[in-house]
Amino acid sequence: MSPSKVTFLGTGTSQGIPMIACDCAVCQSTDERDKRLRVSVHIEIGGKSFIIDTGPDFRQQVLRAGIKRLDAVLYTHEHKDHTAGMDDVRGFNFHQQSSIPLYARAQVIEQLKREFAYAFGENKYPGVPEIDVYEIDGQPFTVQGINIQPIFVKHFYLDVLGFRFGNFAYVTDANSIAPDEQNKLRNLDVLVINALRKTTHVSHFTLAEALELIADLKPKQAYITHVSHQMGLHAEVQKELPPNVSLAYDGLVLNL
Ligand SMILES: [Zn+2]
Ligand SMILES: [Zn+2]
Ligand SMILES: [Zn+2]
Repeated sequence: MSPSKVTFLGTGTSQGIPMIACDCAVCQSTDERDKRLRVSVHIEIGGKSFIIDTGPDFRQQVLRAGIKRLDAVLYTHEHKDHTAGMDDVRGFNFHQQSSIPLYARAQVIEQLKREFAYAFGENKYPGVPEIDVYEIDGQPFTVQGINIQPIFVKHFYLDVLGFRFGNFAYVTDANSIAPDEQNKLRNLDVLVINALRKTTHVSHFTLAEALELIADLKPKQAYITHVSHQMGLHAEVQKELPPNVSLAYDGLVLNL
């Protein structure tokens, strides 16, 4: 099964755009598409509501997108720009009167336990996040009846998971993908892939590298996310892209 609706909650790199104290043209732009919170995406699939990653802007993003229900969170990796907002699942605990399932690799779970020690263990203080943690790895898994195929990607030396739901896949924070894992990203209607900027970066694809991968994988449509202020103005960069590729922007909705 593929998603019926995807909402980009955030499309920026770890510092967001505008960056604190930056006077560059992108950070000063009045185009709303140049304002990027930290990366996250909301997926509606089979009547369920999933979010991938809970960065530092999680609360603001959920409010902005009007998300009223959360059935699960999937984590790509343990970097702070993908985990820092987990505490705010409390809002959904309260509203739904239920705990929230989190799906992550073992090393991400360890990181969550360090960052949010108060949400784990015995004798929890009232009002802390109520979460159920499920370990995943490279094998396909099911969340409340929805089949999900993880894809291992490399983020410098770190292993990160991308996720495929039917003919939609989301891959953030990667600078290389092994051939066997790339094969899990073929025959897609939509591929979301990260590209940080045009010049080389140690842990993210450049725009050219992402476009080369897109040309090889041949999704019907591709969207670029995890964008730095160094990429350039949204309107300018968009003009340089092939017809089936778009820069994602915060608030972009795909009705699939
Ligand atoms: Zn990141
Ligand atoms: Zn800037
Ligand atoms: Zn990262």
